[in-house]
Amino acid sequence: MKIFGAEQERTLGSLYGAEAAEVYSALLRSLSVVLEEEVAPLSLALDEGKEGISRPRRVLFDQGLCKLPHPAEFGGMDIPFGVYALAMELAGAADASTAMSLGIHNTVADAVSRFGSPEQKKRFLPALLSGKKLAAFALTEPTSGSDARAMHTTAAREGRHYVIEGSKMFITNAGEADLYLVFAATGDGHGAFLVEGTNPGLKVGKPLKEKLGMRASHTAEVRLAKCKVPEDSLLGKEGAGFEQAKQLLDSSRIVMGMICVGIARVAYAEALAYAKGRDLFGKKLSDMQLTREKVANAAMETNASRLLCMHAARLKESGKPYSSEAAQGKVLATESAARTCDAAIQLLGGYGYTSADVHRHWRDARLLTIGEGASEVLRLLIASQELEKEP
Ligand SMILES: Cc1cc2nc3c(=O)[nH]c(=O)nc-3n(C[C@H](O)[C@H](O)[C@H](O)COP(=O)(O)OP(=O)(O)OC[C@H]3O[C@@H](n4cnc5c(N)ncnc54)[C@H](O)[C@@H]3O)c2cc1C
Repeated sequence: MKIFGAEQERTLGSLYGAEAAEVYSALLRSLSVVLEEEVAPLSLALDEGKEGISRPRRVLFDQGLCKLPHPAEFGGMDIPFGVYALAMELAGAADASTAMSLGIHNTVADAVSRFGSPEQKKRFLPALLSGKKLAAFALTEPTSGSDARAMHTTAAREGRHYVIEGSKMFITNAGEADLYLVFAATGDGHGAFLVEGTNPGLKVGKPLKEKLGMRASHTAEVRLAKCKVPEDSLLGKEGAGFEQAKQLLDSSRIVMGMICVGIARVAYAEALAYAKGRDLFGKKLSDMQLTREKVANAAMETNASRLLCMHAARLKESGKPYSSEAAQGKVLATESAARTCDAAIQLLGGYGYTSADVHRHWRDARLLTIGEGASEVLRLLIASQELEKEP
């Protein structure tokens, strides 16, 4: 499968106009060559634990994937967010775990870029964008996920420091990260703190090994005990942390949706190739009407997911509200990717069930109907925003 194909090129053309689309297409085409040659061939070994994630992640840092949407002043490339989102579709098609690890890392870079002081930007952004430093986003706790506001982690001011106490659960990049964006209650609300991985008050638990999918990404608990950080570790204002988290997740949901578009495309392409070659009842599997229904559904849902996520990205680029559209894109893309991957397993029959090369796509996609806002929570968010709109 071509990771950057006609569909992606047409999407760029329709959203950005012919001239800009040509520039962005050239950029994504050269990224896709590296994805095809250096990342996709590793993905099965990554799933099976025979290859570590740091190698493909390094390749993508070197390709500038994390620089795309950030300001040139700090080493970024000032490329529109939608083009970055499309690049994440390509990364998701090559290897979903690597794409997710980088997507979450980039949410922390986005946090520093949006809410950081000039000193914090100078200090952290160049290293985050080039991949010299890896970041983790630490919001979820053992007793609060969807209800993130109910967090128990606290940050208490002591002179010119804060002392953070608590525990964060299911943290991607934990143990590998050099920087953790930790959300904590500060008394009058919440704060977001940039905590160095070397802080003696931050300890990472054992990696969670029983994960269904996204197996190459590291996931672990992060414990904060008497974790003392200087007052300038606070991102933006005290009390603003929860609002910051909501804004960061709105963006990140577009990215996670696009990763799922990439996953669905690979599963669909593999199933299609199999169906065209499999003989049964004197015909090819791809000639059966019931197969064609699966093919049509996969094409419709994958294309609709990309368009809805890209619509949210364009709203974000133009400074318009996009929270509901980002949630819609994420729910559609993640749920339809799980359906498409499930259909791919079904089409391959026994081979689909017994080959990790096929079922890992479903296992990877399955996480993203839960993480970064579970589908149930996002449907409630979408509904409440829709009900507020003028009829
Ligand atoms: C592999 C992995 C990586 C992750 N990486 C990160 C990370 O890097 N950083 C981070 O902070 N977190 C991370 N998470 C956590 C993830 O975001 C949470 O798992 C998710 O937000 C759901 O929270 P929960 O698991 O506590 O489930 P809960 O919030 O307890 O939800 C349980 C179920 O209840 C449903 N539910 C919730 N509200 C309602 C409602 N109102 N009505 C009906 N049903 C409802 C949910 O949809 C879900 O199905 C990760 C999780 C995993 C598994």
